[in-house]
Amino acid sequence: MSENFESVAAIFGKNVFNDVVMRERLPKNVYKEFKKTISESRFLDVSLADTVANAMKDWAIENGATHFCHWFQPMTGLTAEKHDSFISPTAEGSTIMEFSGKELIQGEPDASSFPSGGLRATFEARGYTAWDCTSPAFIKETGKNITLYIPCAFCSYNAEALDKKTPLLRSMDALNKQAMRVLRNLGNNTSKSVGATLGPEQEYFLIDKRFFEKRLDLMLTGRTLFGAATPRGQEMSDHYFGALHERVASFMHDVNVELWKLGVSAKTQHNEVAPAQYELAPVFSTVNVATDHNQLVMETLQKVALRNNLVCLLYEKPFSGVNGSGKHNNWSMVTDDGVNLLEPSSTPHDNMVFLVMLSAVIRAVDKYAKLLRASVATAGNDHRLGVHEAPPAIVSVFLGDQLTEIFEQLGQGGAKESKAGGHLKLGVSVLPPLPKDCTDRNRTSPFAFTGNKFEFRMVGSAQSTAGPMFVLNTIVADVLKEIADELEKSTNVKTAVQKILEKISKEHRRIIFNGDNYTEEWTKEAVKRGLPNIKSTVESLKTIMDDENVQLFVNHKVLSKAELKARTEILLDAYSMTINIEAKTTLNIAQRQILPAAIEYSGKLGKAVESINNAGVCPSVQKRALSKTCELISELNSSIDELKKAVVVAIDIDNTAKKAENFRDYVVPAMNNVRKAVDSLEMVVDAKMWPLPTYVEMLFIK
Ligand code: ADP
Ligand code: MG
Repeated sequence: MSENFESVAAIFGKNVFNDVVMRERLPKNVYKEFKKTISESRFLDVSLADTVANAMKDWAIENGATHFCHWFQPMTGLTAEKHDSFISPTAEGSTIMEFSGKELIQGEPDASSFPSGGLRATFEARGYTAWDCTSPAFIKETGKNITLYIPCAFCSYNAEALDKKTPLLRSMDALNKQAMRVLRNLGNNTSKSVGATLGPEQEYFLIDKRFFEKRLDLMLTGRTLFGAATPRGQEMSDHYFGALHERVASFMHDVNVELWKLGVSAKTQHNEVAPAQYELAPVFSTVNVATDHNQLVMETLQKVALRNNLVCLLYEKPFSGVNGSGKHNNWSMVTDDGVNLLEPSSTPHDNMVFLVMLSAVIRAVDKYAKLLRASVATAGNDHRLGVHEAPPAIVSVFLGDQLTEIFEQLGQGGAKESKAGGHLKLGVSVLPPLPKDCTDRNRTSPFAFTGNKFEFRMVGSAQSTAGPMFVLNTIVADVLKEIADELEKSTNVKTAVQKILEKISKEHRRIIFNGDNYTEEWTKEAVKRGLPNIKSTVESLKTIMDDENVQLFVNHKVLSKAELKARTEILLDAYSMTINIEAKTTLNIAQRQILPAAIEYSGKLGKAVESINNAGVCPSVQKRALSKTCELISELNSSIDELKKAVVVAIDIDNTAKKAENFRDYVVPAMNNVRKAVDSLEMVVDAKMWPLPTYVEMLFIK
């Protein structure tokens, strides 16, 4: 036991240029200055950079590194890297290892092939990467290659954001600024900053590699485009939290070791609801570090799976008929001196802070529900949201009975009885002691308060957490700004708070819903309450450029109008491209694998009919099987033709939004029709002749 613990302690953070290493290797004054830079979330000063770079290089080389790279997160939602070796040839023909401060803090990769949404013409190919020194550098071992990774923001020559990290960092600044204003007005004179925290729960599927290799759809699109339902799914509820299969447990062990080395605090692991589905959650950290770490988690899951002859599927809905995968984003706000602002407290004063922060989040979520919805709009998530396994596309907030009661009483502005029977004195002069962990659990809510944090459950499993998180930070910052403005104007803070809370409670009670979000009744009730229910990605993305959103991002300096427009274009375009790839893959498999197999099988049946007939027996069963097969073949054939036509029309449309709409309205249904014919054929054609691994094989064979 203790041996095991020591070995984990020894490997944890081994490959990170972390605080311990820095203190050891940097001159004291440089270390101090550097820490100050980090705590003030600034980019590193050139004067310090050379010293830091040198220490970093020595440490990296001692650990076997030969290269360094600026590691950034372009709008693809994935990460990008270009490696440079440390070598610098000398005049004498030998080489020395060099790494300058300039190389550490800034890179100039050719940016022309990353999506820019029109922000940067191809001829202005230059993009800039800049070290985000609030996220520590680390060493990654990939096969034999050992490289020093420097987490970076990525922007254009004109400093326009071309990545996911830049707006996230800006949104953290906005949140910090406004939350600090509110705290100061509420009498906090000690905290210096407020940061957002994130703990993302990552769901994923694992299947055997040999099946994956026979599925072009999984290889090219991440999901199965075909596959008849399995006779057994998840109805026995026997997989969730079930005993780990040996092969999977070994895989998880390997993943943990890799992640721990990178300083990623992988903490919980378990079987999820669907067969072959699992989850990993780290201990939460600052939102930008957590976002970087989640990228490493996704990458490591995939890399280590292959090593174990498995494939990790991160797509939101790899298999129809069983649960899809999400990435629950647990989010809160914390001060530099360690106070969680969403932690109910037993002292009246802290409760005032808690209730203000809680109410601010509620107002933000209601006011910007459409934007929050848009932050999780992807082609993959369309299969998941509202499909009775994930929250619907209607944004609502779960508070639990006790807090809801308190929130509603705020709207009445005074002291009332609590459900538990005790007296709640809700005048701000004497705020109620709030019970800790007072919330129940609700697995169906898109945005649930879970005791001391909110859990945003709509985020898709393959998504970067940067988008949803910079939206959440910004909308909360916006409401905190309103509150700070009010408080600064007032002469009596307590009455001002009371008025603010009363107003928020009255205006936003409609967003609170503690019931089952998966029911038809809720959908109807939500309409009555005037809550938006934006079902498709395309419809949702089209709301991004609404005036209030442009104002929001511009006011808080998170994104300019041009940057927001570019992002919207990129997201819409990504939708069309995703569906286009799926459609082409559907056609490829249907024409080159399914149709030939079905035709071959019908031939076999035809011969059987003929020979049985010749033998003087009536081949009635064979004939029926033959005519059913031929009927489905002809259905498949015509659905293929329809899909081809739909793709040709959609791909030629110039306007990005219209194109995406066309893909959604014509290509997706045409693809579904091909699938319907194929899945029916799967239930008819001889299993030995079926060209694709089936759902049963993929989901149940370990
Ligand atoms: P669940 O019961 O919801 O499945 P998990 O243990 O799987 O819970 O995940 C909960 C996540 O919430 C973890 O990543 C945890 O570190 C994170 N978390 C806990 N407190 C906070 C906080 N204050 N801010 C952000 N995330 C938090
Ligand atoms: Mg969990």
